[in-house]
Amino acid sequence: MRLGIHVRTGGGYALALQHAINAGCSALQVFSANPKTYRVGKIDRPALEAFCNMRRDAGIDPCAIHTSYLINLASEDDKIRAGSVRLIKNDLEVAAIGGIAYVNTHLGSYGRTSRSQGFATVCHLLEEALSDIAPGVQLVMENSAGAGQLCGGTLEELGHFLHTVDHPQLGVCLDTAHAWAAGYEINSQRGVDDFIYQAAQHIGLDRVHMFHFNDTQVALGAHRDRHWHIGEGNIGWEGFHALAARPELRGKTAILETPGEDADDIRNMQTIRKIFSGATRAQCSVTSTSTLSTRA
Ligand SMILES: [Zn+2]
Ligand SMILES: [Zn+2]
Repeated sequence: MRLGIHVRTGGGYALALQHAINAGCSALQVFSANPKTYRVGKIDRPALEAFCNMRRDAGIDPCAIHTSYLINLASEDDKIRAGSVRLIKNDLEVAAIGGIAYVNTHLGSYGRTSRSQGFATVCHLLEEALSDIAPGVQLVMENSAGAGQLCGGTLEELGHFLHTVDHPQLGVCLDTAHAWAAGYEINSQRGVDDFIYQAAQHIGLDRVHMFHFNDTQVALGAHRDRHWHIGEGNIGWEGFHALAARPELRGKTAILETPGEDADDIRNMQTIRKIFSGATRAQCSVTSTSTLSTRA
C-alpha cells in the first residue's frame, strides 16, 4: 500500500514535501487553498508543475487534494451549491495541471431537504463537476461519520451515488475514523473483513481508490468526527493490522489525517509502516511454511 500524510502547504510545496520525505511517505494529500473559503484563487501553474517534478524525484506518488470543508452539494441554498461545484471543478483543474491523481471531497448534508430529493441534487451536481474532468484525475467521495443528515455515511449510499452517476472517473475514499463513527466495527479482523466485504458488494473495490487511516476516540456509532493517533484509539493496532492483512488493499493509497505537529506525523507514519511491514512479514512466513509443508 502507498502510505502518506496530509501535509500543510502554507510554507510552500518544497517545505511540505520535505516533511513528507522525513516522515517516510510514499503518498501525500494537500489542500489546494484555504479549506474554509469559497474563494477560488488564480491557479499557479509553474508552482504546481514544480511540485509535480519534486514529488516524482522523491518517489512520492500518488498525491491527493482534499477539497474545502465548506462543500455542500445537497444545500438548499443555490449559492452554496454553485460555490461547491465551482470549488470541486477548480480542484479537478489544479489536479490535472499538477499531476495529482485524486480529488477527495465530502458531499455535504441534506439539511431540511428530503433524502431522496437531496440525493438527486447531489447526483446532478456530481455529474456537472465531472462534465469536463481531464484524463488521469479521479474525483473520490469520502464517507462521512453519518451525523444527522450528512450524505455518504454508509457504504450502501456511497455505492448508490457511484452507480447512479455512473462515471468512470468517480470513485470512493474510505476514512476509518468516519466508518467507526458511522457504526462499522473495524477494530478486529472479523469486523474489517465484514467492512471490506460490504465495500466490495455496494461499491466495488476497484472503485475504492483511497483510504484515510485515522484512529478515533469516539464510541462505535457515535457519529462524531474526531481523529486520533494510529493504534492509540478504539480502532487500535488490531484494526489497522486487520486492514494491512487484506491483500485487496495492497495496490491502494492510504493517507493519515491524524492530529498534532510534525513530530506526531512522523510517529504515526512509523506506527502504520510498522503495522504494514509486520503484516507483510506474517504473510511471507505463512507462504514459506506452506511451501515447506508442500515439499515435505
Ligand atoms: Zn475529509
Ligand atoms: Zn478523512
